[in-house]
Amino acid sequence: MAEKVIPVADHRYLNAVPSIPPKLESATGFVADTLARPLQDLRISVTDRCNFRCVYCMPSEVFDKNYAFLPQTSLLSFEEITRIAGIFVAHGVGKIRLTGGEPLLRKHIEKLIEMLSSLKTPDGREPDLTLTTNGSLLARKAQALKDAGLKRVTVSLDSLDDATFKRMNDVDFPVSEVLHGIDAAHKAGLGPIKINMVVKGGMNDQEIIPMARHFKGSPFILRFIEYMDVGASNGWKMDEVVPSAEVVRRIHAVMPLQEIAANYTGETAGRWRYADGGGEIGVISSVTQAFCRDCTRARLSTEGKLYTCLFATGGHDLRALMRSGRTDEEISTVVAHLWRARGDRYSELRTANTAGLEQPLRKVEMSYIGG
Ligand code: SAM
Ligand code: SF4
Ligand code: SF4
Repeated sequence: MAEKVIPVADHRYLNAVPSIPPKLESATGFVADTLARPLQDLRISVTDRCNFRCVYCMPSEVFDKNYAFLPQTSLLSFEEITRIAGIFVAHGVGKIRLTGGEPLLRKHIEKLIEMLSSLKTPDGREPDLTLTTNGSLLARKAQALKDAGLKRVTVSLDSLDDATFKRMNDVDFPVSEVLHGIDAAHKAGLGPIKINMVVKGGMNDQEIIPMARHFKGSPFILRFIEYMDVGASNGWKMDEVVPSAEVVRRIHAVMPLQEIAANYTGETAGRWRYADGGGEIGVISSVTQAFCRDCTRARLSTEGKLYTCLFATGGHDLRALMRSGRTDEEISTVVAHLWRARGDRYSELRTANTAGLEQPLRKVEMSYIGG
């Protein structure tokens, strides 16, 4: 029997309260790290809770009724989130994605969206505001999200077969309700909608072709994601990763594909289109073809820790700075310094050493840091 992993609930990971540099500086709309990667995207985890227990993310043996989720007081308030997001936007972030956990479980999320939509980039644009969801509450909430100023949604869906989907989400949630949510989001104008399918070998890889067939010719862009070794709970094994090349090979054999160019530098998905004009698919090869070189992403955890990599073992406690009365200029200077010092490239190193790196410290869970 697999050994049970007991999560460390509070003070979860190595976290440091950053010190304030002696010389304060104003944001210039651009800051780059040690590998010349600009700070352009911010993912914000608005809750560490979820109504699903996806086997690759929040396995039910670990995230059970004894699991201590963060208390309400630990969460960043909407004002705090908006304040931090504003600082990041001033440094050049043009894209903000709300995630979790399941972001639609956060009460009054529309209010937060409304607050974030009032931010402006240094050149006067509205940041691109999006959200990733498991789709379970989308049918109910899509219109309100749109009205609040949300631009697009990405919906996770791992199978069209009810039995397989229920095995993946582990809470008996039916596919039909997610499909219903996707339609509601489409009708509300939250498009173009991307559909993310995590492929776990031996679990849902038989669903690659049915999923491709279902979304071919639809307004939705299906993206296949390689199962990653995030967190410390999912018992990841390399032989359960279905490489993107294999996904493309299988689809191409029945519905011929042609590779197309990326939309922009730093796009994480490889793009392929159906030769017969049936639209496109994406593949996200985070394991077999790392894209660290172009990674311009910062992550803000549910309790306000800044992570400069999805695979980080420690974060920088921005909430502590806010709650101890630090000014925007002080926090902004801290963010610039942290980003300039960033050298993360975990996936590249992992790819170079396919068996996976030995991690002396516990990696942060995806539900906490935001996928
Ligand atoms: N609950 C929302 C959802 O599922 O869309 C948002 C949070 S979830 C952590 C964000 C994304 O991370 C989802 O598309 C999910 O499939 C993906 N994800 C979670 N664990 C993963 C893993 N081990 N490997 C690859 N993708 C993963
Ligand atoms: Fe929840 Fe999303 Fe993780 Fe699934 S992938 S358990 S829906 S946070
Ligand atoms: Fe970015 Fe870290 Fe992922 Fe590399 S491993 S792409 S640096 S988040």
